[in-house]
Amino acid sequence: MHELALTQSIVEMVAEHARGRRVRRVTLEVGRLTCIMPSALQFCFEVATLGTALEGASLDIIEIEAQARCRVCGDTFVQDELRAPCSCGAHDFTRISGEELRVKQYEVDAI
Ligand SMILES: [Zn+2]
Repeated sequence: MHELALTQSIVEMVAEHARGRRVRRVTLEVGRLTCIMPSALQFCFEVATLGTALEGASLDIIEIEAQARCRVCGDTFVQDELRAPCSCGAHDFTRISGEELRVKQYEVDAI
């Protein structure tokens, strides 16, 4: 499963950064164009964290809407799908957001 592999690499990365400290909470930013289901991510997170420094940590998911800037009229617009055109009809745009998958922050236990 796509989400499980992604989650495992995120868990490994956070565990490494935490240097043995217990992780309490992880906040992820997930772009809408990644096609990743937040519910699947939640489930995979629980599985992937078992036996790691992140076991029992909560996962917050911030969904990032897909935004693009039109190269024709200069407008910034929100897209429901990858190839959706600008309201002026142009398909020529620069991606601003919507494809990200990143750890925004995580909290560890104070020692
Ligand atoms: Zn436009």
